[in-house]
Amino acid sequence: MRKKLIAANWKMYKTPSEALTFVEAFLPLVAGHTRDEIVLFPSITSLATVINRVRGTNVAAGAQSMHWANEGAYTGHTSPVMLTTLGATHVLIGHSENRQYDNETDERINLKVKAAISHGLIPLLCIGEQLDERESGKTEDVLASQLAGALAGFPKEHADKLVIAYEPVWAIGTGLTATPEIAEETHVIVRNHMAQHLGDVANDIRILYGGSVKPENSKSLLEQPNIDGALVGGASLKPDSFAAIAQY
Ligand code: PEP
Repeated sequence: MRKKLIAANWKMYKTPSEALTFVEAFLPLVAGHTRDEIVLFPSITSLATVINRVRGTNVAAGAQSMHWANEGAYTGHTSPVMLTTLGATHVLIGHSENRQYDNETDERINLKVKAAISHGLIPLLCIGEQLDERESGKTEDVLASQLAGALAGFPKEHADKLVIAYEPVWAIGTGLTATPEIAEETHVIVRNHMAQHLGDVANDIRILYGGSVKPENSKSLLEQPNIDGALVGGASLKPDSFAAIAQY
């Protein structure tokens, strides 16, 4: 049985005091909610504040990105050691916005996913196709290629820690959501490819859906047998709306 994971990607929003205000309002709304795992991904400047406030609660916190090296001359980056020392437990890797704006390649994503695992961080590996790729029937090829690139040399014994976030790029921040049927069908494709890479453990790997998830559509998406959670952007910025999504 895969425990669903409901994650908030706050992107480049919220100062530390705004993040703290969110958490103070959010924790009572989800107190005692242990059916699902709930994880907040604040910006790096708010991460320590959030981690310190959620410590000991049913909510965890992680980073929106990281470098793969333990330390080094990488101005502006954050290492896995820095994140684990802070108390972060999860990390987003390969978000489509990083692929689009920050030169995030499959090779770099591969190094980051493996670094996360070796430091005990749970990687949420983001994959997804563009609209023209879906419309021209290339979705499966695109996802297969992203998975093959990201998972080359991935240690199979840690495969159950891996989380995939399937986020069709055309649905991110656009208000367009994949229908539950399209999302479920695509998650099955992703799981089959995971099985090719990692074997039967693919059945234990959580595959989250992301792309304009909101309180109005979270239930129909999360009821699908292969949708094991949600990665939520815009609708995670308000405590009541993110709590409603988690309580689908
Ligand atoms: C995201 O940023 O991962 C995302 C899915 O954003 P939104 O929910 O706003 O589409």
